[in-house]
Amino acid sequence: MKTRLPMRIVLPSLLAGAILGSIYATMLWATRQSDQMSIARQERLVDVTVGKQQAAIAHDQESATVWDDAVRKVAARDQEWIDANLGRWMQTYFGHDGAFVLDASGSPIFSYLSDAPGAAEAFSKVDTYVVPLAEKLRQRLARGDEQGKTEQTLSIGESEIVAISGRPAILSAKPVLSDTGDLAQVKGTEAIHIALRYLDGDFAQTMGAEYLFADMRYERSKGGHAERLYYPIKSTAGDPLGFFSWTPFRPGTRALRQTEPVFVAGALLLLAVVSGFALVLHKRSERLMDSQSRLFHLAHFDSLTGLPNRASFTAEVSRRLAAGQAAVLFLDLDRFKQVNDTLGHPTGDKLIAEVAKRLSAVAGVDVFLARIGGDEFTAVAPAEQRDAVEALAEKLIGTIRQPFEIDGQPILIGLTIGIAFAEAAASDAQAIVRQADIALYHAKAAGRNRYAIFGQHMEGLISARRALEQDLRTALLEGRQIEVHYQPVYLAGDNRMISVEALARWRHPAKGMICPDVFIPIAEEAGLIDRLGDLVLQAALHAAKRWPDLGLAVNASPIELRHDNYALRVTAALNRHAFDPRRLEIEITESAVIDDDGTCRRNIEALRRLGVRFALDDFGTGFSSFGRLQALDVDRIKIDKCFIDQMGDAGSNEAIVHAIVDLAHARGLKTTAEGIETACQSRRLAELGCDEIQGYFLSRPVESAGIDAMVKTPALEGSDMARLTGLA
Ligand code: C2E
Ligand code: CA
Ligand code: CA
Repeated sequence: MKTRLPMRIVLPSLLAGAILGSIYATMLWATRQSDQMSIARQERLVDVTVGKQQAAIAHDQESATVWDDAVRKVAARDQEWIDANLGRWMQTYFGHDGAFVLDASGSPIFSYLSDAPGAAEAFSKVDTYVVPLAEKLRQRLARGDEQGKTEQTLSIGESEIVAISGRPAILSAKPVLSDTGDLAQVKGTEAIHIALRYLDGDFAQTMGAEYLFADMRYERSKGGHAERLYYPIKSTAGDPLGFFSWTPFRPGTRALRQTEPVFVAGALLLLAVVSGFALVLHKRSERLMDSQSRLFHLAHFDSLTGLPNRASFTAEVSRRLAAGQAAVLFLDLDRFKQVNDTLGHPTGDKLIAEVAKRLSAVAGVDVFLARIGGDEFTAVAPAEQRDAVEALAEKLIGTIRQPFEIDGQPILIGLTIGIAFAEAAASDAQAIVRQADIALYHAKAAGRNRYAIFGQHMEGLISARRALEQDLRTALLEGRQIEVHYQPVYLAGDNRMISVEALARWRHPAKGMICPDVFIPIAEEAGLIDRLGDLVLQAALHAAKRWPDLGLAVNASPIELRHDNYALRVTAALNRHAFDPRRLEIEITESAVIDDDGTCRRNIEALRRLGVRFALDDFGTGFSSFGRLQALDVDRIKIDKCFIDQMGDAGSNEAIVHAIVDLAHARGLKTTAEGIETACQSRRLAELGCDEIQGYFLSRPVESAGIDAMVKTPALEGSDMARLTGLA
């Protein structure tokens, strides 16, 4: 792309430049042509002009030579008259440089030359040319040769160009004739007048001014001026006599000079336009390529983490399988959903990005890592050594187990991995990916923060789950297989049962009793949780009518609470069973309350107005913090079993439970401790100020008949009840 940058702009510019160059060359050529034609014309004009000047001199002469007075005065040798009319006058009036009058024998009657002091010197300077010229004319006169005589030209004449003492000059000979014809003259005996005009004096300037030759002058030799033109002057005999030089008119050059600025401006403009256009085109195609590569990136990479996406991953699996063995790893973050629900999506996104960084840091160069969904990552690794793949899985789990810190908040999550090796599959990408997914499911079922390698025994797992979902659907339709058991809750300290928690049970016709940890998620995923919740609530309300002195707690899934009609449904159930709403407590989990559109909150508020109370279940797991508690409209928190478990062995958990109880009380909340399994735990919790306690030590969940029995024998101690219900 870099190398295309200049070429895209330079090429069109070069082309435009070449075109402009050839246009300019053509213009120059046309200029030269037009100049040359003009110069040739100007040279011809000089040629003609010199001839014309000769004729003009002759014409000048005739103004005085064809005149009766002249014939008479010349015959009388009147020097004064001749000087005035045939000599000086012609000099002053026509600019002639010399005048001579010769008699029939060729002797001078009158001589004048501008650059000679006297008549004798003047004649001696010119006689070699003047005498033969006069003789030539006289012979013609004698012959009666009248060639060249016209209406304007009154007499014949002879003219030539010669060098007088090295100066080029026109000599023009004319006979002195009678204008009236009254004076008788013998042909061949007429006096001859000769006019002389130097060509190296002001002749050139005069001619130039008359015919518009710029700065015309005589030059003995060609000067070095390239600009000037030199017209060679030759004597009539053909000897070189120097040059007329002038600055020729070059119309082409002039036109070029005039158009040049326009042309240059136009050319620059054109060049600018062409390069500008090329630049724009270039930029645009660059942008196009840019967005193409962006599109490519979007199509192949995950924008949040920069990791390859699902499409890239699938392609990579196929590629590696075609090349040989491969291990596919499916990575699933534990508890990520809770982070997202409780801390918000922005934090969730940051966490995902951090996770991607850690995974990438641990995965080697030969491991292809991808993000294929919200909290799902995948990896393809070389499968030659199973040990290496398992070590990789352990390293990945290890790095994610380390606490994260996002926006100053410590976050603990986990990682579960499903692994499938290519040789276990028919080397088909889809099959191996599916196997890794099944292995992941298996790993999750076995507990978090671990990995499982796909084995044939797992194959049935997915279909088993699907079958279970179908069975659950049937069970909920019939309503018979779902039972409700009740776990008593006691006041701490005096161990008096004050309420029961309704817990769902599924008596599967073939598989026996299935615990809610298994079927509740299935019901949630399959969209059956509303039906299940309703069933449990109706059964519990019905049963609890028999225990008017006890409170009733039911669990509600976050999914139920997010439905608009939840409060309405509960109200309808309360009405139907004529159940005092103040006896009912609904246990919710944190993620239920953190919803986007506030439906949960509205449901809770509506029911609380009726007198229904709410408890926050499993407090301490997930991301519950006291800060968040403020946002929740609950009446009670249920301290999760995991805090209770380690009590008594003087661990730090006791301090945590103590703090939870204190803070809850400070906010006007009641506390219930769950999962009490020992007398010690029961005692300590009472000491710490916990309000109510619940656990196997006191009573397991029992059928409604069990509660009936307990209600009838209220004097029994909790431990006795435990015995009664078959625990101890
Ligand atoms: P949960 O609401 O925290 O219920 C308490 C669970 O802890 C019950 O398990 C109970 O049998 C168990 N438990 C009570 N005391 C002890 C003890 O001392 N030691 C031990 N190890 N366990 C104790 P269960 O009945 O299996 O229910 C599991 C979870 O299923 C419940 O946890 C609740 O979240 C959910 N669940 C049960 N029934 C329903 C229901 O009707 N609707 C919804 N949405 N969820 C339900
Ligand atoms: Ca509960
Ligand atoms: Ca609980």
